[in-house]
Amino acid sequence: MHEFDLIQRFFNVSNYSDSSVMVGIGDDCALLQAQPNKSIVVSTDSMVENVHFSSITPTDAIAHKLVASNISDISASGGIPKWATLSLTLPCINEAWLTQFSQTLHSQLNKYGVSLIGGDTTSGEQIHLSMTLMGECSNSDFMGRGGAEVGDMICLCDHIGEATLGLIVEKNLLNDPNFIKNSSNFTLLTSLLNRFYYPEIQLATSHILKDYANATIDISDGLLQDLGHVIKNSKKAKNPLGVELCFNFKNLKKKVEILRKNNKLSCYKELLTDNDKVALTSGEEYTLCSIMSPHKLKALQKQHQEYLATLGIKLYTIGEVTNTNKWVVNGKTICLDDEIGYKHFTNSKYHSKT
Ligand code: ADP
Ligand code: MG
Repeated sequence: MHEFDLIQRFFNVSNYSDSSVMVGIGDDCALLQAQPNKSIVVSTDSMVENVHFSSITPTDAIAHKLVASNISDISASGGIPKWATLSLTLPCINEAWLTQFSQTLHSQLNKYGVSLIGGDTTSGEQIHLSMTLMGECSNSDFMGRGGAEVGDMICLCDHIGEATLGLIVEKNLLNDPNFIKNSSNFTLLTSLLNRFYYPEIQLATSHILKDYANATIDISDGLLQDLGHVIKNSKKAKNPLGVELCFNFKNLKKKVEILRKNNKLSCYKELLTDNDKVALTSGEEYTLCSIMSPHKLKALQKQHQEYLATLGIKLYTIGEVTNTNKWVVNGKTICLDDEIGYKHFTNSKYHSKT
């Protein structure tokens, strides 16, 4: 099998259900019919072998996360995802891997109403996957990273922290294949791993938030780091903005304790003694964090709380934007240094993905 057979067999879409795709896979370019009065939002996310996934990460989890991370960006901006391209670099043609990968990829894209409209396929030493996702958005619906104001409330659409716990379970599993099997906490460890492998994206929620929020981000590199971008980009205020956070995720505390008892890797010992740090730095959560005025938050809750509950979403108010130029977390002033969240090309202590 060569490049073109591979594309034809695993990625070709013979019939596009979305009439906006006038020309799809198979030509030099795709031709898309944009709606009048709509703008296009575009996002790209890549996954690299031994950086974003390991030799034991299930193939369907890799495909799931590639789609999820892109959908998450579009949802954080308030857009409706529509069209995707896929860039694939593979060391060889492994048909079993490609079958699983492409099946999950297609089913995930279908779930969100996205058409695969093109891509590129090359050989290379390591698996490298990159997706560009395009969506439609009215200019007035676009939620950027700027826009936070003094007195705004900071809200999360879910608890955070479990994705990092799932990553730590995977690292332990790499070290000892019986790590889960031999544990009396089999169910919890499995659920943490699944939370890390198969994040659910809050797309429907984002379409409610867009009418209320001054800014929204998805938590992909850790709350502190992602919220840091919003605060830095919100330049309307005269004085530099600050943040005061106050939260207590009781369920996370129990889970951290159990993982601490099971964990065999010295590099995670310190992190697992600090619940707040787990929550604040956990990446790949894909939970939405919205910043809005107290007045808008009240209105949102009044109008949509019941509907959000049907989606399994509860809004957690975890803090406030201040004019102090300080970050205060549960009463302690912290310094936003290099330890927070994940950054490529740094030796992040806790969140090294390799
Ligand atoms: P070109 O030579 O113009 O780059 P290619 O021969 O690389 O085109 O690709 C042929 C067609 O297949 C193009 O329409 C391209 O968009 C599509 N394609 C290539 N790789 C993929 C992939 N991994 N997934 C989806 N479509 C792909
Ligand atoms: Mg090509």
